[in-house]
Amino acid sequence: MFTSIAGRSVIVTGGSKGIGKGISRAFAARGARVLLTARTAEELEMAVAEMRATGGDAIGAVANVSSLPDMERVAQRALETHGGIDIVCVNAGIFPSARLEEMREEDWDEVHDTNLKGTFLTVRACLPALKQSAHGRVIVTSSITGPITGLPGWSHYAASKAGQLGFVRSAALELAKYGITCNAVLPGNIRTEGLEALGAEYTAKMIESVPLGRLGSVEDIANAALFLASDEAAFITGQTLVVDGGQVLPESLSAIASG
Ligand code: NAP
Repeated sequence: MFTSIAGRSVIVTGGSKGIGKGISRAFAARGARVLLTARTAEELEMAVAEMRATGGDAIGAVANVSSLPDMERVAQRALETHGGIDIVCVNAGIFPSARLEEMREEDWDEVHDTNLKGTFLTVRACLPALKQSAHGRVIVTSSITGPITGLPGWSHYAASKAGQLGFVRSAALELAKYGITCNAVLPGNIRTEGLEALGAEYTAKMIESVPLGRLGSVEDIANAALFLASDEAAFITGQTLVVDGGQVLPESLSAIASG
């Protein structure tokens, strides 16, 4: 099904770790030419080296998604090195927790600058090249948190992730005339460096709330991104794909145990 990915030029923001690294690896393994970005050069170089070691066509570009000049430089690099841009995986994101009573204005701004403004700036910078592609795709990593569920301590994050869906739906309409689709993947709790940093107690609680009884893997999300990038998904736009092991389904706290 995913053979149509080979040779496509893909940009993955936040590709040095976690879900973004999983997405980058999956595209590289299927013959795509992948440009991954992150702010930390060392981790980015390690991720690129890992993909090249298994025969993947991958390069890295240090860039902050909240900077338009950075993202324009990334788009230019993809044009020069890969001859264009076909698929943009808008994935970079942060999820520091802060209760409303303690949340500072700068906490709110940092989350929104990365998760929501970063979404806009990534698409904005890549759009001129994306318009030239015959297979243009924008795939946003949103979350179940915000669009579907709430989580105390993450109101700024939840707002940014719900905001991404408003962006996706309106952008899908604007981009349709260029044949570019724009969709979002909504991960549940996925085992990544970022999630592990929230601690073992958080992880254990989350596993209890997943009907399929485990955290998601980065491959679970990468498979959804591969599908949305494929020719087979060419008629799907402005949509959301929840990948969460059923976490949003239970109607009551006891619904999983009694299932
Ligand atoms: P992660 O393990 O912490 O990795 C985050 C990646 O984003 C890193 O490569 C990081 O590199 C990069 N990044 C962060 N801020 C950036 C910025 N301003 N500019 C450029 N790159 C930046 O996170 P993850 O768990 O894989 O999450 C990835 C995405 O999935 C996020 O959008 C998150 O909201 C979403 N998500 C995750 C989960 C989950 O359970 N893990 C669930 C739902 C949604 P640098 O720090 O070096 O820049």
